[in-house]
Amino acid sequence: MRFWLLMLLLVLMLLLTSCTPFVAAQRRDPPPVPDLLAPAALAVVQPSTVVAEYETASADRQAKPTPTPTAALFADDPFVAAQVAAMLPAYVTDLEQAAAWERYTIVAALSPGEQRVRGRMQVLVTNRTATPHPRLVFHLYPNHPDFGGRLDVTSATINGVPVASGTAYDDSLFWLELAQPLLPGATVEVEMSFVARTPRNASARTFGAFNQEAGLWSMANFYPILARQRPEGGWDERPIESRGDFVVSSTALYDVTIDVPVEWTLVTTGVGVAREAVTPGVRRERFVSGPQREFYLGATRGLAQVSSDVAGTRIISHYQPAHAEAGKRALQVTEQALRIFNARYGQYPLAELEVIEGAMTTFLGMEYPGVVLIDQQLYARNARGLETTVAHEIAHQWWYSLVGNDAQGEAWLDEGMASYAQILYYEGIGAFDVALSELEGFRDMYRQVRERGRDVPLATPPSELRGIYVPIVYGKGALFFHALRAEIGEAAFTRFLQNYYAFGRYRDLVGDDLLRVAEEACGCDLDRLYRDWVLTAAPVL
Ligand SMILES: [Zn+2]
Repeated sequence: MRFWLLMLLLVLMLLLTSCTPFVAAQRRDPPPVPDLLAPAALAVVQPSTVVAEYETASADRQAKPTPTPTAALFADDPFVAAQVAAMLPAYVTDLEQAAAWERYTIVAALSPGEQRVRGRMQVLVTNRTATPHPRLVFHLYPNHPDFGGRLDVTSATINGVPVASGTAYDDSLFWLELAQPLLPGATVEVEMSFVARTPRNASARTFGAFNQEAGLWSMANFYPILARQRPEGGWDERPIESRGDFVVSSTALYDVTIDVPVEWTLVTTGVGVAREAVTPGVRRERFVSGPQREFYLGATRGLAQVSSDVAGTRIISHYQPAHAEAGKRALQVTEQALRIFNARYGQYPLAELEVIEGAMTTFLGMEYPGVVLIDQQLYARNARGLETTVAHEIAHQWWYSLVGNDAQGEAWLDEGMASYAQILYYEGIGAFDVALSELEGFRDMYRQVRERGRDVPLATPPSELRGIYVPIVYGKGALFFHALRAEIGEAAFTRFLQNYYAFGRYRDLVGDDLLRVAEEACGCDLDRLYRDWVLTAAPVL
């Protein structure tokens, strides 16, 4: 999740305790009247056409998937077979779980001068609950006021038939009415046309990951994202809470084709599997994601790149040419972090991981599947803050992206893990003094909250953490994992980390899962520890 510097903490606390949102109010376009019967009128081609073109275009392929014996497993399922390219060879068999994941096919055309994305999306939606769905629910994150942009659905069909729709919460929640309820286990094919527009040079006012500035056009959450289906039935229809990270979604497979002016370089979740010229000025690229929670889309112009390889995963660092040393440093830190976390947690299973310098301004870093964004001010300083932030965001590939949790309800699960990863990272490179100072930083954060009489259980949802989100979720969250390590010992803690990742990969876990995996790892009862830290505000330091 967004990772804030200690030095920003006081400012933030003041802002949050005075009820001022962290972004200033901004004039926004009036909400459109949904017109689902309007013709799509898009310049992009239909998904089936695009796929067919790539299947017949062999001359201009890039990163053509290497046939492996396991790819034959998916010979009868071309959509999944194409996903093999996104996986490390040893993890191709993870795709055997594909029936558990929704499938998105997106085609989109980028107009950087207007900061506009026009797209069409097909998603196969299966009811994965035990009760019928009367409607299908999506998040249109860019319509949340913090984003300062828009995402509008201009047409929608289910199984080819136009359907009625509705929205709530500033149009950030969107649903399609089903003619017949979708029964448990049944699947429908949804098609939508959409238009997204980001602001420009707005990082000081709005969410910098949806913005065009400083050589990066970041289009995070540019498409309708299916809401999470709740195990007890129905959809996660909560309004989006500004405090903490926005996206709560389940693992899916993405096949995405983008038309982009040739001056721009695409940076996305997953790997490129094809590219070709559409016109002299426009290039078309196709990407597959592997199993991921969302598809990040960015385009850079004028940034430099440096790349390397760790255990088969290609790492690419994108940076402003004026920050060349820091850009190379970001690559080196990513290499170290990947090696350390591969050893401590279990291997990152995907073929690519990218780090991008951008203007985030109101936060330091942000994680997306296969991509992390780091604020340009950290590159300008090129000091420990850059190293710590990169390590934290890389750890989110395990905790948020691969192992999912409810970022809007139990944010401590991934933020606590990613914050404690800072300590594991510095231990891993032998900088034990820095690891101790990171730990002391978290202790100071937490002590201050406690001395103010504002300690709360870790299980407190972010919506109730006004003014104390960072010290509780990051500070107390990290300290919980340190206390767990002290309680069960190094060998059991290592088993816990590895088992938690192996059990949770591609799934959505809750705090009770963590407790159970930890108790299995130590063969002991951790109810008291869990109660004191997570369920109550008992004194724990
Ligand atoms: Zn984080």
